[in-house]
Amino acid sequence: MDVFINGLGQKGEGDAFSKTCPASGARVWSGHAASQRQVIKAVASARESFSEWARTPLSERIDILKAYGAALSSRAEEIALAISRDMGKALWESRAEAGAMAAKIGLSIQAQAERAGEMSKQAAFGRLELAHRPHGVMAVFGPFNFPGHLPNGHIVPALLAGNTCVFKPSELAPSVAPIMMEAFQSAGLPAGVVNMVQGGRETGAALLEADINGLLFTGSAQTGVFFHKYFAGRPNILLALEMGGNNPLIIWDTQNIEAAADIAAQSAFLTTGQRCSCARRLILPEGGRGDQIVEAIVARAKALKIGAYDEADIFMGPLVSEQAAEAAIDFQMKLSKAGGKSLRRLKRLERGGGFVSAGVIDMSGARERIDEELFGPFLQIYRADSFEQAIRHANDTRFGLSAGLISDNEALWDEARLSLRAGILNFNRPTAGASGAQPFGGPGLSGNFRPGAYYAADYCAWPQASQIADAPERLSAQGFPK
Ligand code: NAD
Repeated sequence: MDVFINGLGQKGEGDAFSKTCPASGARVWSGHAASQRQVIKAVASARESFSEWARTPLSERIDILKAYGAALSSRAEEIALAISRDMGKALWESRAEAGAMAAKIGLSIQAQAERAGEMSKQAAFGRLELAHRPHGVMAVFGPFNFPGHLPNGHIVPALLAGNTCVFKPSELAPSVAPIMMEAFQSAGLPAGVVNMVQGGRETGAALLEADINGLLFTGSAQTGVFFHKYFAGRPNILLALEMGGNNPLIIWDTQNIEAAADIAAQSAFLTTGQRCSCARRLILPEGGRGDQIVEAIVARAKALKIGAYDEADIFMGPLVSEQAAEAAIDFQMKLSKAGGKSLRRLKRLERGGGFVSAGVIDMSGARERIDEELFGPFLQIYRADSFEQAIRHANDTRFGLSAGLISDNEALWDEARLSLRAGILNFNRPTAGASGAQPFGGPGLSGNFRPGAYYAADYCAWPQASQIADAPERLSAQGFPK
């Protein structure tokens, strides 16, 4: 399905495009992008459905979304396979993603009630009431790394709040979106409330130009900054930008080197480093203990089991594409030229496709600091001579998504909480660990202070505050005629 407009799956009228599996090289999706005309139609369909959907009682919206969640659960394996084939993720991870999509319904219902529900309070003249209203038509742009869970994490709270949506999946992972559309349809969602347009930047550009009320975006900082500029001077368009990070992890004052190395290696290499919250920079004390930790991490990088999503017991699959693998090699070269010392090279594997090995580089002696996100399994090591210097290194970034501290010393954690600038800050846990029951986002170039997950309810609706008296009564005030 290339396009889903007003409840009907259609062929795209734009350019043909396809996706090959980065593990097998097989073509796993082919179709056509939506044309500008189709994008305009999709937005018009969402616009037409808005008023009725916004007025549908919340309990009915909830029932439909629960039925959608049940439909996702019943197709969980199909969803997991679609994700793994498109972007290469190990099947155990894609299964977790499919589970998270269904779990999103309950979490969103709870978050909406707690953060964007209704409230009534007695006042001298009668009562104060608070309600939340939907924005209108929301464009949802998905990233490739969680092609189901992350757009779903915008769409479900947006619908719950009474918005309608036009979803543009990532062109690098188009296969899961049609399953989502079918699940909405089987759940009885009225036609036009959710629409979908496949395609790349051109389709995205047409959606930006169309008559939308908001943009819910998860993707790279580069794209997010472009959107921010694009909508500059238009405060009436709701922008929720969830972007990347250059995430630091500090290991300081711990006896348990094996556990610390496990947490660091999983932080860096989970999902082949293709999680926004993966650790990119590891900060360690100078001296013998730091050396031992580096050795233990390099040993793990060497021993990780890498393979295709359906091979037994793999920890990580390939990167999303050959281009992504090339970009990772180029980034490594850039760090080496800046004075980095390779401890274990990130290499393309013989089996081709997006397959790369996990790399580790020591940047302590580098002449230049390169504050960019490399979306791959590549960890930079920095050494510090004090905990204060470690904190300074950690905060030396334009981003602020996730960070972590591994330590036996709780006092250091107390200090880290006050001084580390990151929206997701974990203690003795991987940086890539996050809960849907908490907000997700961070300062700096990681977003525009509209965190998602548990706080998505906030950006999906605007508050409406009312003072209410039962009947009009004459008013008096000093100097006011009686
Ligand atoms: P991306 O920015 O390349 O693309 C995201 C979406 O935007 C895609 O649908 C793409 O087609 C569209 N797009 C890109 N450029 C566009 C343009 N000029 N005009 C219109 N549409 C455009 O991101 P990606 O590579 O798919 O995803 C990886 C990135 O996402 C990483 O940087 C990662 O850190 C970030 N990410 C952030 C979070 C978070 O919650 N903060 C979660 C996952 C991923």
